[in-house]
Amino acid sequence: MHKNSLEYARSCDIQDPLKNFRNKFYIPANDNDESLIYLCGNSLGLQPKSTAAYVTQELEDWSKLGVEGHVHAKNPWMPYHEFLTESMAKIVGAKPSEVVMMNTLTANLHFMMVSFYHPTPNRFKVIIESDAFPSDKYAVESQLQFHGFDADKGLLLWKPRESEHHCRMEDLEALLEQNKDQVALVMIGSTNYYTGQAFPLKEITSLGHSHGARVGFDLAHGAGNIQPNLHDSNADFAVWCSYKYLNSGPGSIGGCFVHERHANNNDLKKLTGWWGHNKQTRFNMRHDFDAISGAEGWQLSNPSILSMAAIKASLEVFEEAGFDNIIAKSKKLTGYLEFLLEDLNNPEVRIITPKNPDERGSQLSIQVKSANKQMHTALTNEGVISDWREPDVIRVAPAALYNSFEDVFTFVSLFKKVLESRQNT
Ligand SMILES: *Cc1c(COP(=O)(O)O)cnc(C)c1O
Repeated sequence: MHKNSLEYARSCDIQDPLKNFRNKFYIPANDNDESLIYLCGNSLGLQPKSTAAYVTQELEDWSKLGVEGHVHAKNPWMPYHEFLTESMAKIVGAKPSEVVMMNTLTANLHFMMVSFYHPTPNRFKVIIESDAFPSDKYAVESQLQFHGFDADKGLLLWKPRESEHHCRMEDLEALLEQNKDQVALVMIGSTNYYTGQAFPLKEITSLGHSHGARVGFDLAHGAGNIQPNLHDSNADFAVWCSYKYLNSGPGSIGGCFVHERHANNNDLKKLTGWWGHNKQTRFNMRHDFDAISGAEGWQLSNPSILSMAAIKASLEVFEEAGFDNIIAKSKKLTGYLEFLLEDLNNPEVRIITPKNPDERGSQLSIQVKSANKQMHTALTNEGVISDWREPDVIRVAPAALYNSFEDVFTFVSLFKKVLESRQNT
């Protein structure tokens, strides 16, 4: 059983097998050089101290070798993305041939819909969850319009019931039944960015497939946070970014999964470029397009090596820590955060993230009755970096690699202080 005390939090830190990983990251500090309580790794993960050396290596090879770096750099640029595949595949539970790092998240979502969203006049609808991240909604709406459909008619929202926060599987099934033979694609953001609900990917996929729809997932808030077991989920595709839980720097290159059953399916439509072409003949330049088998066949351009170097640095930290250990700590840390928030016994404070640790990742979304952005500003002034979502939700996500139990304890003390000062004004 947890205890609500600083001594207890510190004792958890001492026993934490990953405690030394915090020192591998730069923790943002205030003007007095005091570390901030950074709980925003779900939005932008922190920088590993090793990143600079990885990026510098490529800058040096570029300065010394110029174009020869494609082949002769210490880490040759031509196959550079391959150096990331194995670690990335482990983190998302896929086979290496099913995973490629390329482009950015929303771009990948569009490229995947080119391959997996083939609407017909009867079957053209797309299901997303009701509070999907805006970019996902825009992407899906624009695909509907691109194919000549009315986005209002084609977009179906999987909604929580009145006065609930979580989407229920039986309601997804009902939506598929009500729109029988009309749904072409189910595209769900797992884990949900707002509530923190982690959806059961395998069940969703099997339900979607049994209704004749393709199924894809946006793992922006899943990759590096939960184990999505993508291969076993049987999803057709998934996309993610690398700058949230994957700590690879602002706007860094994204990831993409294509299930192996599609690896050599030449019937799938695809937008192509030279980087998806057979590596043996890519530089002959004149051949007809000959796709690489597997996810790599969806690549278009030669990627940003500086960005990939940052991803490589970060994935090596994940490798060293072991993703299972990260998940185990994440569950403890988030469980402790939940315990402390519940111990506030404040009727105005409500956690809208699922209570079951298997239905969430590290993020807790805290709804505060009649709160406004001022409350978030007050928290920031106390040295807490968290995330505010209108109208009344604070999202906090302790990241197992660099947050401590003491961070969590200190956050809840400061949160309590801010709540009390709010009640006194
Ligand atoms: C962060 C996030 C995005 C951002 O998309 P980019 O293309 O990387 O800018 C999209 N969707 C979801 C669900 C996200 O959480």
